[in-house]
Parts: sequence; C-alpha cells; structure tokens
Amino acid sequence: MARRALASPTPDPVLQPVSALKGVGPARARALKLAGIETIEDLYYYFPRRYLDRTVQANVPLQAGTPVTLLVEVESSFVAHGRRSRLMVQTRCGQQKITLVWFRRYQFFQRQFERGQLLIVSGKLEDFQGWQIVHPDFEVMDADEQKLVHVGRIIPLYRSGEELQNGGFDSRGFRRLISALEISIPSVLPQAEERFQIRRNQALAHIHFPPSEEALERARSYLLYEELYLFLLLMREKVLSRVQNNRLYKPLIPEESNLFRDLVSRLPFALTRGQKQIIAEVSRICQTSHSESFLLQGDVGSGKTLVALLLACLYVEQGLQVAFLAPTDVLARQHYQTISTAVGLFGRPRPGLLTAQGSRKERAALLAELQQGAIDLVIGTHALLSEDVVFGKLAFVIIDEQHRFGVEQREALIGKGSHPDTLAMTATPIPRTLCLTAYADLKLLLLKEKPAGRKAVKSLWLKEKDREGLYRSIRKYVSQGQQCFIVYPLISESEKVDLKAASDAFLDLEQIFKEFSVALLHGRMPARDKERVMREFKEGRTGILVTTTVIEVGVDVPNATIMVVEHADRFGISQLHQLRGRVGRGAQESFCIYMTPDAVTDDARERLEALVKSQDGFYLADIDLKLRGPGELLGLRQHGLPGLQLADLQRDQKLAETIYQEVQDLSTLNPELVALAHRRFRSVGDIFGFT
Ligand code: ADP
Ligand code: MG
Repeated sequence: MARRALASPTPDPVLQPVSALKGVGPARARALKLAGIETIEDLYYYFPRRYLDRTVQANVPLQAGTPVTLLVEVESSFVAHGRRSRLMVQTRCGQQKITLVWFRRYQFFQRQFERGQLLIVSGKLEDFQGWQIVHPDFEVMDADEQKLVHVGRIIPLYRSGEELQNGGFDSRGFRRLISALEISIPSVLPQAEERFQIRRNQALAHIHFPPSEEALERARSYLLYEELYLFLLLMREKVLSRVQNNRLYKPLIPEESNLFRDLVSRLPFALTRGQKQIIAEVSRICQTSHSESFLLQGDVGSGKTLVALLLACLYVEQGLQVAFLAPTDVLARQHYQTISTAVGLFGRPRPGLLTAQGSRKERAALLAELQQGAIDLVIGTHALLSEDVVFGKLAFVIIDEQHRFGVEQREALIGKGSHPDTLAMTATPIPRTLCLTAYADLKLLLLKEKPAGRKAVKSLWLKEKDREGLYRSIRKYVSQGQQCFIVYPLISESEKVDLKAASDAFLDLEQIFKEFSVALLHGRMPARDKERVMREFKEGRTGILVTTTVIEVGVDVPNATIMVVEHADRFGISQLHQLRGRVGRGAQESFCIYMTPDAVTDDARERLEALVKSQDGFYLADIDLKLRGPGELLGLRQHGLPGLQLADLQRDQKLAETIYQEVQDLSTLNPELVALAHRRFRSVGDIFGFT
C-alpha cells in the first residue's frame, strides 16, 4: 500500500475521468462508459477500427459487387413507396451518380441527410438501374474534416454502436474529442520505443491521426508490442502471485504412495513411459509450498484419465480432496465408473458423483460428505461449480476436456480450495500462440505416445450416393461381432429438430438392421436409461448405437470399430477429431465415416479434407485456429482473443514468443506497469483470472 502511495504522489492526468474534458457532460460520459471508456487513458486506447485515406476515394472502382468506401456528396433524398418502402438518397461521387438505399429503419435514416452533406459510405456496389449501395455504413463529415480529407489526411473511423451514436459519438464525435486531447503521456517501455523508433506519446497520437502510412505502421507496431507485453505481464503476475501463496500441504511422490502402488499393480496393463513421466514430473513440481497449474495435452486415447486418477491418489493418501470436472453427464458417469472399478475393494480413494441429475436428498448427502472430507475424489459436471458445493480440503482440481469450459469456470472451481494444484486436460492441442498468451500461466505437459497396439483410424468422407455400400459394410463388421456408433449432430438452437432427426433415424435404422440390436442414446434421456444403454453397449450386447454428440468426449468402448458421423459438415474440426477418437481403441482396424450431403460449404470441405488426410491433432488444431479463430478454442464464442485490439495471434506468434521470454525472466514486476496492464485489460480480467 505504502509503495503505491509513493509511486503516484500526484494523480496521473491521463487517469482523470472523461468528464474532465471540455464538451463531455454527464450524458456523454455515460455514453462513453457503455463503450468501456471512463478515463482519458481509455479514450487514447480506443483505437480506430479502420482508416480512410485519400487513395480509397481517388479511384472509384465502378464494378458491380465490389466493396467500396467512397466520399460522396448528397444531392437529394426521398422515400419511394412500393411493395417495400425504401429511402433513396441520391449522391454524387466525382462524375458518378450513386444511390444509397435503406429498406430497414428507413424512417430513422430519412432524418439524417441534407443536400450538400459530404458522406463517407462503405458497402457493396450494385448495378440496379444505375449504381447503388444498399444499407451502406456511412459517416457524415463536417466542414473542418472536409478540409482534412482534401489535404489527404488519413481519417480514423471508430466503432460506434447505437448507444454511442445517440450519445453524440459517431466517428465524427470521437475524432473531435480525441483530436482535442493534449495530455502528454509518459513512456513505459523504453526498450520498445527504441526498437520501433517512436515514443509512446507519439504512437498514441499517430494511431488516431496518422500523418502518413509509415507513421501509422510504426505507431501500430509499438502499440501492438505494448499490448502483448501488458497482457503477458498480467499472466506473469498471476504466476508470481501463486508463488507467494503459502500452503501447508503437498502431494506424495509415487514412490512414497501405497495407494498409487496398489492401483498400478491391479491395472491389466503397464503404464506407458509418457504416463509415468508425467506423473513423476507433476508430483515433483508440486513439492513446493505453493500451487501449480498444468495443461496436459494428449491426443484422444492416450490415457489421460488414468494419469489424472493416479495423481489424485497422491493427494488422497495425504488426507486431501480432489475434484474432477467433466463436460458432460455421460462422461462424468463413465469416469466415476472407471474410477470405482479401479479402486475396487481397496476402498480409497472414495469416489462421489455429482451431476445435475439425481434426487435432492442424494445431493444433500453428497454435499455433506464433501464438506466433511469423507469423499476423497468427486467427479462431476458443471454441477460442481454451484455455490453450495463446499469442500473440506480441496487440494487438486482436474479439468477434463478443458476447452469445453471457460477460463472463469476453471477459476470458480479452483476458488473452492485454498491454493489447489490444477491439471487441465485436453485432446484438442492448443496452438503454440495460445499457450504463450491465454495459457501462459500453465505448465505445459505433452503425452505423446499412445498405449501400444493402437492403430490409425481409416477415415472416409462419403455422400448420400454411397449410403447403400456403407450399410453393407456395417452389416459385415457388426455380424463379425464388432460394434458401430452412428452419430447425429445436436446443435442447441435446433435441439428439438435434431433430437427428432436422431430418434427418427433410430426407428429407420432399427428396421434396416433388423438382425442386430440397435439402441438410442441422447442427452435428454433419464440418467438411468443413459446408464443402461451405455452399459449394454460396453458389454457388447448392442451392435449399433445411434447417438447424439453426448458421446463426443471420453467414451471408451474398445470393441467399437466403426463410427459414422451424419451431417459431418455441421461439426467443427475438433469435435470431429474427438468423435473419431471413440474408435480405434482396441486391437482391430477401425473406421470413421463422415457423411454429408452432396454439396457442402467451402469451410466444411476444408475441414473434412483435413480430417481425412490427417490424424495429427496438432495439424488439425492449426487448421481449426485458422478457420475459427482463438476465441472459440478458449470456449469463448468469439473470434480473436478478448481484450486484444491489435494483436493477431497467428500473424504475431514470433513477437508473442519474444515477449513471453522477456516477461518470463522478470522476477519482480514494475508496479506502475502492472497497474497500467490491469487498467488496459480490466474488461476481460474475469475471463483470464487477472484479479
Ligand atoms: P483420453 O486420453 O482420450 O482421455 P482415456 O483416458 O479415455 O484416453 O484412455 C483410453 C483407453 O486407454 C482407456 O480404455 C484406458 O483404460 C486405456 N489405457 C490407459 N492407459 C493405458 C496403458 N498404459 N496401456 C493400455 N491401455 C491404457
Ligand atoms: Mg479423456
């Protein structure tokens, strides 16, 4: 505390609220706050979403279908009434006439235009009885700015949603406000200023009003560096703050643990070298007095569950508790069964299962036992995150299929212990750039080798015309005693329709494969039925299991050798790779068949071709990153890493790596930089656990 007071004896001028600026009253301050802008510093860091420069307007490519950004002058506007009423705004761009058209909300837009106004419009040029743009993005330029445009400045365009616009902040409003800023901004990263030959002060001015393309490039380079640096600094802070957590327990190492030895001796197989190494490494690293976090990556079928279970023993034998979080009900149950069987009569660890199903009474009993510490190892779904789940002494948190959980969910479970160690597991390899950024606080573990005797899964992409042949093959293999999954997609928005598709298909398939036992499994079934269906399939009493993606992750039936994925074009790469991991677990040759309609989108084609070509999870993850962006891999339904405005994790991997190293070597952090970083990333602090 004392240190902070010393560090800033006078309030920093850039930390003043925006309301200190001329022309920003309470209403406008409220509008800015909606965009996350509270201080002058925030305003500086509200970077333009793009720029308009003179070259864009000089050559007007009058070609239908071209996206254009043009400077136009309004000549007239009128509403044309017809089957669909619309606003027509006639403009001129040089010698060309261009009509702007609004169907939606035309009455609202009608009020915006007057003759002689200069607009910047962007949209797609269409040839419809003359040139037109329907629903263009547009900005009104005012008199001062017209001059700017004519002298060839690069004009910033800002993101401004409706609330901002209503508050007076369209792009023009931002330009006025930001161009009037006069506060000098201190340097914070001299090494970066040196490297990019620009001061922070200047970079923050030029990113808004670049005097030239070259200056803009320099400003962006510096600010991109700063952005990644500050982000990684917070990750580093997270790690360092963990190191300060003193805790009074630690796990055993395998050599000391009877529980461990007993479990291993009762396994029907030997541990792989990779499994042994990882168990040894994790338990060794955790012999400190602070918590550690790991990310275990191992392709589907590499035996991660067992690694987690054996590690759990090292805590349990010390009288500590372990929580094992799984993404689905089916998977939690399966882990629970695997673990109960493995534990056998030995009695420890004593497992418990907590999902959203089950009676209130059972749940209350389980919660009580958890709190008393009578249950050593609780396996559960999201239900574990619920506030009334309290542990006696939670010391180890395992998160299976971690990409299915948001970072904040991970943090919620961790928060139930006092500095527990964590092991997040994934079969979806995390691209290197994500490891360096969003996961920079985790120690990476790779489980490369798979248990001996595993064969590659033959993968095929088939279309409707191949269906008869496919059914013939299924008949052949199932009559030889092998088993088959037929998977239907389940996508939340149309869950009902999809469920119906799966159930209808089940009825058909029962007829088609009369001679076999065909069963249906989906997430909406009562738990008892799910359990029975899974058990019968596991025991080989069912030949064909028609199912939704509830079996996507972790389900383990070595005798199942065929998987058919219907509508494979509707699944993502990692999901398809996961699904494929359900077969190829036994000694026999296995097949995965992706069925699609005859025509699929380009993206779907790219996904399926990649899957047929490769079973290398890392290769597939790269393609996935390219097609979907990092946000979705993090379980955040968005493209890009939240909070990063400039960095592109694919393009900037090299830079991220350099900065990561730089920050990694810091043993003490500059408190002013850390404070700045917290301000910069406060809107995403919860997501990444920057607290
Ligand atoms: P994943 O890494 O995909 O989670 P699992 O943990 O489900 O893989 O393991 C897949 C299968 O491999 C399970 O049937 C498990 O019992 C088996 N298994 C795990 N370790 C070994 C081993 N060392 N040797 C042989 N089979 C193993
Ligand atoms: Mg698994």
